[in-house]
Amino acid sequence: MDFHPSERPSKDDFFEFERFDKGYHAEDICCVICGAPSFIVEEEIRDKNLERYKWFVPQAIRAENYQYEDIMTAWYGVASLPNHDFPLEVLGIDDIEIDEIHYGERLSKLEPKRYAKHSSKLVHDLCMEYPYVTVHSECLDMMRRLVDYRQALLKAGVSVGSKHPTTLSQLYEVFEQRITRGCLYNYPLGLNGSFTPRRVVEPHYYYFRDVDIFWDVAWAWGEKKVYEYEMAPSPIPGLTREILSYLQPLPSLQSHSRLFLELEALPTELQDMIYNDLHPFINPQQICNRSLPSMVWRDLLFNRQILPWLWDLDISALQSRPATSDMADVPTFEAENTWDWEHLVRTLAQVEVFEPGHPLEHAPLRLRNRRRIWRLLEEAEDKDIREWVDASAWRFEEG
Ligand SMILES: [Zn+2]
Repeated sequence: MDFHPSERPSKDDFFEFERFDKGYHAEDICCVICGAPSFIVEEEIRDKNLERYKWFVPQAIRAENYQYEDIMTAWYGVASLPNHDFPLEVLGIDDIEIDEIHYGERLSKLEPKRYAKHSSKLVHDLCMEYPYVTVHSECLDMMRRLVDYRQALLKAGVSVGSKHPTTLSQLYEVFEQRITRGCLYNYPLGLNGSFTPRRVVEPHYYYFRDVDIFWDVAWAWGEKKVYEYEMAPSPIPGLTREILSYLQPLPSLQSHSRLFLELEALPTELQDMIYNDLHPFINPQQICNRSLPSMVWRDLLFNRQILPWLWDLDISALQSRPATSDMADVPTFEAENTWDWEHLVRTLAQVEVFEPGHPLEHAPLRLRNRRRIWRLLEEAEDKDIREWVDASAWRFEEG
């Protein structure tokens, strides 16, 4: 695995973890959004106190007052209350309980808890209606951003797809379904057969490059293949510089297209409608059509959230010059008719742009992890667990 220069791990960052014979207790509870641990059960790992694990702190969420129309219709696939938008209840680590482990203010360390003696604050409990699910606060933040983004699109009259959640409680519902609806006959109660799945099923195996990461009951501590998923998706130091480093010079001087001149002649409201209609900008054609001037693409990227997962770009960085050049006559990123912003935006808008074999495969791990998590949220759909169960049930019948 290649590491981006900004993230080259120190020698202490890697370690050997003897997973042998740890059994059930080696499991780690995972965030329902990103699939990486939100809580480290194994003390040996927690004691390492590695910087990259600092964000592994669970919060538990549940939509307040959320309910199925009735349990039977919920079970058989009829929607719960339509278009619900309930407030999200968020619990901190001291208020939640993890199967067989209690971590609370009265206990200074983890202590095993007797089976079946737990409160209603037990997380990932598939025997409970509307269970709490754990998330990282960074992932929860991204979930809120996606909801805000979609709400803004709805207000602007742009469609976001009928099965895509547009409220926090609808996203909670998707996670809730992934916990409680997959536990029918022949389907494991969680990957390990537990009533409280530590890693909740995600239909794309969380887009882990190595699917074994998903299937293994315990997180692959100490292994390089999970390093990327252990990097917090925000903040990303040097994010804007990194994005600007992908910018290429415009191949030739572009004159404004006729289309753009006509567009510019329209009232601002109509222009806004047209630009809004580019959203969501996912996997567009990669070939630049040059209908819009390069500057407009820059504006779309920095001011119009065309790539909402890059919410924290620093616009002041445009006044700088490419880092690789020390020549004073190199134009800044603000210079007109110089940089190919359309190419940059179309490239970044490819969902798999950071995957191996794609143009930006060497991007910093944090950035890759952020794109993956955003994708997981972006593609989450009402009842998306169903298809997965149908496609995967054979594994268990045969086993
Ligand atoms: Zn997460």
